[in-house]
Amino acid sequence: MFIIGCHLSNSKGYLKTGSDALSIGANTFQFFTRNPRGGAAKPVDKADVDAYNELASLNNIGPVIAHAPYTMNPCAATESLREFSLETMRDDLYRLSMIPGSLYNFHPGSHVGQGVDAGIELIAETVSKLLETDNPTPILLETMAGKGSEVGSRFEELRRIIDLAGGDSRIGVTLDTCHVYDAGYDIVGNLDGVLDEFDKAIGLDRLRAIHLNDSKNPFCSHKDRHEKIGSGSIGLEAFGRIINHPALRELPFCLETPQEDLSGWGAEIELLKSLRNS
Ligand code: FE
Ligand code: FE
Ligand code: ZN
Repeated sequence: MFIIGCHLSNSKGYLKTGSDALSIGANTFQFFTRNPRGGAAKPVDKADVDAYNELASLNNIGPVIAHAPYTMNPCAATESLREFSLETMRDDLYRLSMIPGSLYNFHPGSHVGQGVDAGIELIAETVSKLLETDNPTPILLETMAGKGSEVGSRFEELRRIIDLAGGDSRIGVTLDTCHVYDAGYDIVGNLDGVLDEFDKAIGLDRLRAIHLNDSKNPFCSHKDRHEKIGSGSIGLEAFGRIINHPALRELPFCLETPQEDLSGWGAEIELLKSLRNS
């Protein structure tokens, strides 16, 4: 099955977000667990969650991806900031335990001058603390573009985080096409080679989701500016290969492209469906 969707605002609740997804031909979506710039989340609305879960099972929606706020930093230099990240993520995971089959995606963090090794250790500490419960929700480290002091732009760095955190099977990875291309992995000219490298460094069994984004910047620019599918440096042909690749085609694909409204993503989803081999 082709699992395809886009990032949607869920400010009006899960049920509305799920029906928005269905209205544009999507069968998955991503949403921020709370204001992406951080802060308190709204209390859980049990009736909304129940109604959404019914809609999702009737329409085969999922797995859906919950994106952690991107301003929190699990490897911040200050203990209070790291503690804030941990508590935010714990609360997010508690909420997600009510959405069966959801995945929790987060940016590993920025080492802010402490060095990559210190960053990796601090991130692994956070991840292992998050796994102390029996919450089954997978925790996905997102591959990063490597801007500033971002950790996680090399597959080996993600592998070290996973190992240091104890290697629990709930730890997975989201591959963001814009980020890896900006980081210097040539998914346009050598997709097989990149996936081989991923498999050797991390293991393809850890790959749980794909963020589908074209890039505004050239290969290896370490920039992280998303572009509409087919309008950037990655290009439409490469996306045709990505969504059909045997190692990727069963994963959930999620657009995080700069569109004005729902119909923009609807058109992008239709375009991708037309490129999908049966
Ligand atoms: Fe992200
Ligand atoms: Fe992403
Ligand atoms: Zn990005």
